[in-house]
Amino acid sequence: MHITFDDAFCSVAGALPTLRRLRIPATVFVCSGYAEDGRPLRVPELIEEVDAAPEELATMGWDELGEIAENGVEIGSHTVTHPHLPSLAQWEVERELVDSRERIEDRLGRPCRFVAYPYGEESDHIRAAARAAGYAAGFAMSSDLRRADPFAIPRVGIWRGDHGLRAAAKIALQQASKRPLWHAGTAR
Ligand SMILES: [Zn+2]
Repeated sequence: MHITFDDAFCSVAGALPTLRRLRIPATVFVCSGYAEDGRPLRVPELIEEVDAAPEELATMGWDELGEIAENGVEIGSHTVTHPHLPSLAQWEVERELVDSRERIEDRLGRPCRFVAYPYGEESDHIRAAARAAGYAAGFAMSSDLRRADPFAIPRVGIWRGDHGLRAAAKIALQQASKRPLWHAGTAR
């Protein structure tokens, strides 16, 4: 099992000691533009939530990201600004993917191997751009386990309200497939 957190919300830090104790590897996907000052993720879809509880949607800055990376959490890219990638021109897609990877590597001094597409939105040309941008793999939101594309790794979405049995059932269904989604060791 590998747990991933999109958006690098500060609240994620609360889950990390438990994951460490259970030896479950974790990746946090950060928008490099937000990590500059840790401001709340004020994308149009979240404006009401941000305005109601800005501290809950505050994001980790570089110092906090560096600290959790020191503790074994992998830091991946969630682009620079959290755009809808399919709505952008190709050069803008490339800039979001390349600039965020370079910035994360510069600030944290370690490789940024993975990208998670904002809103899970990807396509042939977006996956190709992620590969060209130097990533080893890309994480989608699809839970279609038959997809074997390392640039569209499916994930089981666990959302607010998915606690207890509901989350356990979602994970168990995935494990029942007895099929590894992807091997970190074999990717470029
Ligand atoms: Zn996101």
